[in-house]
Amino acid sequence: MIRKLLVLALLLAPGIARAQGKLNVIATTEDLASIAREVGGDRVAVEAIARGYQDPHFVEAKPSFILKLQKADLLIVVGRELEIGWLPPLLANGRNAKVQTGSNGYLDASMNVKILEIPTGQITRAMGDVHPQGNPHYWLDPNNGRMIAQAIRDRFSQLDPANKAVYAQRYDDFDKRLKAAEARWDAALAPYKGVKVVTYHRSWPNFMERWGLDVIGYVEPKPGIPPTTSHTVELIEAMKEQNAHIVIVEPYFDLKTPQSIAN
Ligand SMILES: [Zn+2]
Repeated sequence: MIRKLLVLALLLAPGIARAQGKLNVIATTEDLASIAREVGGDRVAVEAIARGYQDPHFVEAKPSFILKLQKADLLIVVGRELEIGWLPPLLANGRNAKVQTGSNGYLDASMNVKILEIPTGQITRAMGDVHPQGNPHYWLDPNNGRMIAQAIRDRFSQLDPANKAVYAQRYDDFDKRLKAAEARWDAALAPYKGVKVVTYHRSWPNFMERWGLDVIGYVEPKPGIPPTTSHTVELIEAMKEQNAHIVIVEPYFDLKTPQSIAN
């Protein structure tokens, strides 16, 4: 009987996941969660807050996210103020000292990647929703994905040194598969070098730099500002003049204006 009670007490003990050796990881986006799963394998349990089809600038701060943060050993964020509109209150309400800014359980994935469009000079409201620490949509260059994976490997190893060799091996394997994929992607995109395109938001500078496409304008008149008729008319004129035939839209934006531009 005593043995049975002991077993029951162990099963009910909090942090049973940690007892099984898994790091509890929360990432703000699916992209970061996906890279964390590649590096961590079955040694980590990873969940994302924003879904892939949600605009990462604006995420509804649900109470369930607070519960997730309370149980987390590590929080991975995009950084560069992408999550500034919704993450700080979740972190404050979660009251988990392990994952607060500056703790070992807080990883800003932007720290060692290549960041573009870092503004110089004064930023005013008239410029729209400019990201003051540079463009936070940096993960669309796969080499930045590699740098993110390295940072995650190093942080996993620091928090869970017993599995350091596993994280190192899994990173090396990820890197090998990424190199093979990059060769495929480079070949597939080579014919598009110099092609003029329009994008909805400024989400693609790292992608465009990597493969040499030329962004001639944006559906948004200014970052974060919804399309206006006058801007759309100007944009259509510019596209005709410069022979641009492609509008690239992130999955979370309304297709109405892009469709009318295409028509
Ligand atoms: Zn943005």
